[in-house]
Order: sequence, then C-alpha cells, then structure tokens
Amino acid sequence: MQRIDQLIDIARSYNPKVDVNLIKKAYGFALETHNGQKRLSGEDFIIHPFSVAEILANQKLDSTSIAVGLLHDTIEDAGVTYEQLAKIFGKEIAQLVSGVTKISGIRLQGSLDEEFVENLRRMLLAMARDLRVILVKLADRLHNMQTLHYLPKEKQQRIARQTLEIYAPLSERLGMGEMKGELEDYAFPYVYPEEYKFLTEFSRPYYRKAEGFLKNATREIRTKLAVEDIEARVSSRSKHLYSLWKKLNRPEINKDINKVHDLVALRILVNDIKDCYAALGIVHSIWKPVPWIGVSDFIAQPKPNGYRSIHTKVFSLHERILEIQIRTFQMHEQAENGIASHWYYAGEKAKGVSDERLEKGIFTPGEKLSWVKQLVSWQKQVVDSQEYLNALKFDGLASRIFVFSPKGDVYDLPFGATPVDFAYAVHTNLGDETVGSKVNGKMVTLNYKLKSGDMVEIIKKEGTKPTEGWLDFVVTSLARRKISSYFREKNRQI
Ligand code: MN
Repeated sequence: MQRIDQLIDIARSYNPKVDVNLIKKAYGFALETHNGQKRLSGEDFIIHPFSVAEILANQKLDSTSIAVGLLHDTIEDAGVTYEQLAKIFGKEIAQLVSGVTKISGIRLQGSLDEEFVENLRRMLLAMARDLRVILVKLADRLHNMQTLHYLPKEKQQRIARQTLEIYAPLSERLGMGEMKGELEDYAFPYVYPEEYKFLTEFSRPYYRKAEGFLKNATREIRTKLAVEDIEARVSSRSKHLYSLWKKLNRPEINKDINKVHDLVALRILVNDIKDCYAALGIVHSIWKPVPWIGVSDFIAQPKPNGYRSIHTKVFSLHERILEIQIRTFQMHEQAENGIASHWYYAGEKAKGVSDERLEKGIFTPGEKLSWVKQLVSWQKQVVDSQEYLNALKFDGLASRIFVFSPKGDVYDLPFGATPVDFAYAVHTNLGDETVGSKVNGKMVTLNYKLKSGDMVEIIKKEGTKPTEGWLDFVVTSLARRKISSYFREKNRQI
C-alpha cells in the first residue's frame, strides 16, 4: 500500500467524509514540485511535508489542514506561486500555505529587539485569520526538531532555543500538551547539553523503579474498576524529561527527585464525568489520599489553558506516593491535542457533517475560542514591547491569569497582578486615576491579587495621581514604568 493511502486511512478513522481527492491531489502536486530535492539527511524532500501531514492527521485535523501540511513548503522551497496554488487548490488553501510560508520567513532570532516583537505580532495576526496556519507550523517545527541532528551546529542551537522560547509555550497556550512535551524534549539536549546528559543518566533508575512499581498498581485498579462495572482505560505515562528538569529546579523541590511525585503517573480514562468521580472513589477506597496535597479537581475548576482532569496523590504500596489522573476520553484528547481537537469533537457531535462544517466547527464550542481571542488581542492591547515579549517567552506563557473588564473584554496579566496592574493595562489615565476597585462586585484593596476569571471594575476619580506605595505591589512592568515616570516627572518639577 502506498504511503499516501495509509495517511488517508488515518484521516478516515476519525473523519468518514475525508476529502480523498484533495489529499491525493496535494500529495501528487508536492511530489512533482519537490521532485529531485533532498533534505540534509539525504532523503527525498517529500518525506518532510508528508511527515507534517501525518502529524496533523494524528491530531485528527480536517482534510484542508492535511493538504496544507503536504503543500506547506511548495512556495518557499519549490518556487510555486500563490496564484498557482489558488488556481489549482482554491483561495483558502493558497492563503493557508502562504500564511505558513510567511511565519517560516519570520526571523525569530531570540534577540530582544523591536523587530523580533513585531515579527511575533505578525505571527499572531496570521493566527487570527486562521489558526490552522499555527497548527501546521507547529507540526512543521516538530518534524524539523525530530531531524535537527542533520543541521549545522549553530543552526541547531538557534532553532532549538526558539522552540523552547516560542513554540513550546505557544503550543501549551493552545492546550496542546503532547506537542509541548515533545518539542521541549527534542530541544532539551541542544540547548542544555550538559544538564540533559546528567539528567538522563541520573533519572533512569528512578524512572525504571517507578515504572516497575506502577505495573502492580495498574493491575489492582483495573480489577477494582471492572468489579464496579466502570468502563475504563488504565495506562501510565512517564514525565517528559524537560518537564522533570524544570520541576527539579523549582525552589520547593530543590533538585530532590524524591519530591517529584509524578515521575510516572497512572491515568484512568472513562466515558463521562460521573465515572470520573466514581473512579476517584474507587481509587481512594484502595489507597488513601495524601493529606494537604491529595486531590486537585481540574474538572470543577479547569486550568487557565482549558486543561481538565482530576489529579489525586495517594499512598500506595510501601507508602509510596503515586499520582493518579482521572479524566474522560474527550478531556484526554483535548489535553493532548488542545485546540486541534476541536475540529474532531465539533465534527463528532454533528455526525456525518461535511468537511466544510467540520472546519467551521472549531469556532462553535466557546471554551477554547476565548483563548484564541486572547492571543489575538495581545497584539492590539499590549503597547509595551518588553512586556509583550516576556509574555510570549518561556515561562511567561505558563504563568498568566485572565481577568475580565465589566464590558467582558479579556485581559492577560501575570500571576500576582493587582487591580492597579489591571487599570494600567486598560489605559494609562485609568491607572493614574484609580482610587478603588471592585472584584466580582465586591470592594477590594488595591493590592488584592487577582485570579483568573475575576471581573475587575476600577473606580476612578478625575485628577487623582498615582501613589508611590503602589510600587510595592504592582507586578507588571507597564504599571511600574508609568508610576515611576510620574514620580520622576514630579521630582524634576520640584
Ligand atoms: Mn517545512
């Protein structure tokens, strides 16, 4: 069987209406236009777009995305024009391919200059038009990371660093946990070779021991679930290495691997939310939850990036702490593929819908849409380049909160942000004239720490000026700068 037929089979397994003609046509066109080209690995170039399309199919994306995956390098590397693509495949596909090409052309050098930030803005702008541009770009990046060892040394460094700083956090922001973990693990040895080498050796026996131990626990929980007649898939996962490294460097862990309780975790997937809680009960009837750190219910309170699951840490055999994650199959799909999974679930709900509907479906389930909106609104509201950059880089993305204005606009702020930070994020004048604040309708102090989902109202009084004490609690560089510059100005006048 030809490789392309295997790819179509993957797509058909989740999308009965897969556009076979489109995918075959795109494959044929890519084969023809990339004919004779080689990758640095010595393989035929087509291997690359094909692998990208395969990654997209495994994320259960629509036929158009898969076709764009196959075509994504035709403009950049095969001299095909936008017009040619538009004529053969239609305007939509041509636009998507040219969107991916533009993002690839952006020079994300990692330098903290204005041009760099402007490039990121363009990237988000492309995303605003169609998120699939970003999904294809992430798949492209993943395959390039998988084959990075063929590139010259400096290039490896630059690309791997960029992956850690921009693409991994971006995929995390989109709720694509699996993509994030893989990108980070591929980049890790290039960016931190020493640490990578050390950690690989050092952690191996711990992983091995934990995995062996997990086998028994898996058997035990499977039996109990079966007795209670709960349909479930029980599996285990090992923590991604880079994620372990980051955790070891947290102050409360202080490089003590014995304090990392989720080196391996047991995962229970069930059909619905009711079964999640039933499974939790069963788990706790076998093993006692660890006091204080026991249960985190991210189903009742999802994480800011939409992650839903119940985590419980229990004392299992030999008083060993074991993390167990319980969620539905759908939540699991979303945790792994994030925003990409919406194509799939939107399609599944309306059985047998056309490919076209499937594509549009992404914008119907509201929950993830707000994230897209948020990403888009960054480029509009953030005037401070440094802050914008920080927000996009590294841990910045993982440690943000989202609050609402009374009008329902979403604002993205760092953890620990206060009503004063919020006011300055809305407008400088509003910041300067703040005299009080209400959060969710209740008066709060100005140093109140906002939480995701808070609705923040600023009470202002015209002609009021900032207070120096605000500098003790604001966390955004924007607010800090505005307040300081007011006082600098004032002192100069004296
Ligand atoms: Mn490519």
